Amino acid sequence: MSNLQDQTAAPRKRLFIALMGFTCLMLVGLIFLAWWIPSKGLTNIHPDLPRYVGMIMAVLSGTAILGTVLLVLTTALGKDLFFTRFMRLMVIKFLLPVIEFVGKLLGLDRDRIRQSFIAMNNSLVISQKYRLRSDRILVLLPHCIQLFDCEIKVTGDINKCVLCGRCNVMGLVELGRKYGIDISVATGGTLARKVIVEKRPKLVLAVACERDLTSGIKDCYPLPVIGILNERPFGPCFNTLVNVQAIDEALQQILDIPKPV
Ligand code: SF4
Repeated sequence: MSNLQDQTAAPRKRLFIALMGFTCLMLVGLIFLAWWIPSKGLTNIHPDLPRYVGMIMAVLSGTAILGTVLLVLTTALGKDLFFTRFMRLMVIKFLLPVIEFVGKLLGLDRDRIRQSFIAMNNSLVISQKYRLRSDRILVLLPHCIQLFDCEIKVTGDINKCVLCGRCNVMGLVELGRKYGIDISVATGGTLARKVIVEKRPKLVLAVACERDLTSGIKDCYPLPVIGILNERPFGPCFNTLVNVQAIDEALQQILDIPKPV
């Protein structure tokens, strides 16, 4: 992972990892209780039954602990160790709702949990070391990235931008031209899904807020999505900003760029 992503994503990932560890401990505790409480009743059915049920519970606990350790190692090392695709499925479909629930119980801010989920998802995608042609990557932007009083509407075709430099669209158009990448501006989740269906990319790099990125990553699975958070100095959905360099660095990690000879 690049330096920039390391600096910004590491603290966020740590929160997700801490919550995962906590959830794992709770799960192991619940598994133990589920075995221990009815074990006397099980003895009445068959004297060996508590032992067999205990073995099954031990395997389940071991799997939960191993899965957590593997996930931590994969994101810490940035390498596709084992079952990264499967782990992404587990994180997106099962762990996120549980962790959101645990976070709520602990009184944590929902957006902080979503930020940590996005950072964890990005780590897992990047650890798979994709090297894709530029025409297999789609960059999706929210329409609020465009200056609200710009007379040119770039929804539908970002290349209509006349590069005046008053908003981040200019830098993004230049990035698209530099790498020959398709960049679409979507006015909502429905349009974003339509663009993805039409363009059939192998990977999406999406810019949005915590809520939209989280739902987009979930909806798009198994399509890999790298999420980049926008900045909202004027409040939500209005003249938002994005770190163009962060997008450039993320693209360099997934693009099949020929090395100079
Ligand atoms: S860079 Fe200028 S022309 Fe392009 S979208 Fe932003 S305000 Fe409009």
